[in-house]
Amino acid sequence: MSQIDVLVSEVGPRDGLQMASAVMPTEFKKRWIAAAVEAGLREIEVCSFVPPKIVPAMADAAEVTAYACSFPGLTVAVLAPNLRGAENAMKAGAHKITVPISASEAHNKANVNRTREESVADIARICELRDSLPKAERPVIEGGLSTVWGCTISGLVPQDDVVRLSAALVEAGVDEVGLADTTGMADPASIKSVFKAVRAEIGEEKLGGAHLHNTRGLGLANALAALEVGITTLDSSLAGLGGCPFAPGASGNIVTEDLVYMLEEMGLKTGIDLKKLIACREVLREGLPEEPLYGFIAEVGPEKGGKSVEKIAAA
Ligand code: ZN
Repeated sequence: MSQIDVLVSEVGPRDGLQMASAVMPTEFKKRWIAAAVEAGLREIEVCSFVPPKIVPAMADAAEVTAYACSFPGLTVAVLAPNLRGAENAMKAGAHKITVPISASEAHNKANVNRTREESVADIARICELRDSLPKAERPVIEGGLSTVWGCTISGLVPQDDVVRLSAALVEAGVDEVGLADTTGMADPASIKSVFKAVRAEIGEEKLGGAHLHNTRGLGLANALAALEVGITTLDSSLAGLGGCPFAPGASGNIVTEDLVYMLEEMGLKTGIDLKKLIACREVLREGLPEEPLYGFIAEVGPEKGGKSVEKIAAA
């Protein structure tokens, strides 16, 4: 596989679908994964291992994970909120398991009904479970720190809390710590400041990617800020899936198509074919007909974006 500069990690099948108003049939999830791989995506977060009673959209998690594992070279990432979920994810063969923990104590309690310290202890048990597997079968465990740039319950989250929790996660045994702007409250300056502070504490090797939401329209600006401080893994979602009905176009992840366009225009290699990526939207259109699709590049078309004669002539 050719060398890339930035790893674009597609999280739509997990983050997008768990927010969608309807459940996407399993066959469409598989078509989406196949189309994304065909477009050049190398990492896809395909599902979440949560009780189907709580999130019916993820009832087929094991089947979808096993299917994704059939594509050679694809890193199959999943989310698991607790030990039980992580155990199921390992059984299904996931390559990377993100375990979420909120940087905000109030949000962590509301979300997973335990304190942050209890969450760290749970993550330590997940890491022990990983270590009990033969080396070749061990998944990468990512501590996914959420609400890093602000919480809808308690407001601002102190940077010191984020740094302290990152260190605690490394201590618990995670392979990397990813930082998520769950609420879309970051700005480019705070992105840089937090990533630098966490890197200074845990080191380059343990620092994972940036998971950004576009709630206030700063998603791509924040992605650029993360790149500028050396972050090379960026999460995004096809068509910005996951939008909130009360804030149209605002609450989903940053749009994969627009992110890939920006990176490639900057001369950074993603390994992704933009036209094929845009074609993936067809699967969403068919599989979730009620769901709005966002993104600028899909609207204007990729052919106008390249350094074409047309563009040079118009400049
Ligand atoms: Zn998210």
